[in-house]
Amino acid sequence: MKSYYDILDIPPTATKEEIKSAFRSKARQFHPDINHSFEAEMIFKQVNLAAKTLLDDNLRSQYDFAYGFNQKSYTKMNQEAQSARETYKKASEEYKKQSDFAKNFREFFNAYEQQKAKKEQKIRKIDGKDIVVNVVITKQEAVLGTTRKVNVLESEKCPKCFGAKFINGSKCSFCDGKGSKTSYKKINVKIPPNVRDGSKIRVRNEGEQGKFGGKNGDLYLILAIEKNAAFKTFDGLALLEVPISPFEAVLGAQIKIPVPDNGSKMFTIPPKTRTNTTFRLSSCGFLNAQTNQRDDLMVKVIIDILPNLSDKEIELYREILIENKTQIREEFYKNYG
Ligand SMILES: [Zn+2]
Repeated sequence: MKSYYDILDIPPTATKEEIKSAFRSKARQFHPDINHSFEAEMIFKQVNLAAKTLLDDNLRSQYDFAYGFNQKSYTKMNQEAQSARETYKKASEEYKKQSDFAKNFREFFNAYEQQKAKKEQKIRKIDGKDIVVNVVITKQEAVLGTTRKVNVLESEKCPKCFGAKFINGSKCSFCDGKGSKTSYKKINVKIPPNVRDGSKIRVRNEGEQGKFGGKNGDLYLILAIEKNAAFKTFDGLALLEVPISPFEAVLGAQIKIPVPDNGSKMFTIPPKTRTNTTFRLSSCGFLNAQTNQRDDLMVKVIIDILPNLSDKEIELYREILIENKTQIREEFYKNYG
């Protein structure tokens, strides 16, 4: 496979001006308006893509990195080689006068070689950022220790195009030309016994991935100990399961619900609410140890009845039975035959 530099017939050290001029000369040769052959069309597409990529600083550095071109150090090395050549030239003229020059030059050149080797190793590394996740645990778990699965959004260099975004001149289909792939990674984290509210747990290297040889970030779990046993947790948020009666479900209702840390709140159930419907109340949940603000509260309603219904109530339900026009199990039978 030809590199973009080969396609444009330029060295990896080419400046933007050189890239533009190479593109113009190739375009004069292969532009579909000028050259009608199929082959020319294909070449022009490649030329176009090569120039587009190399003229964009960001794309170019990604491309260079993916394919092992290091433009900056090449440029530097070339400049250094150039200055070394000039020094050599001057020195050579001097040589006629100075007989011991050869020895000096060897020393100078060895030093230059060493310096060059050092610079080649120096590539700009980018370290990955830390990721912070809030986790709610029960009082019991805080005493005995526990484990938690944590979902971490992970972005890594596309394994198909290696971050170059293009393969053989066309957009990489695996990453849709983004150069990276994001996915959820599940990490099992052990929480030791006797942790306190607000404790931090560090999982090394499980944060954002480093780039260009940089270090990975760390993953931090910030623990919040559940204060009220009435609240379950869902995805780290407080979850309240509230029983409601069938008529509240049908007609809607205003009910009082507890919120974490001994508070309460009026909550409106809209008419025709079905069982297991979950509502999200913003800023009514657990106090987030990291932001010092309340997370959201999840409220799940469960339609229920109490067994001690009065005769009158049962009579009214009988009237509903007669009036009932809906088939509650219609969908169910469709699924189960
Ligand atoms: Zn890709």
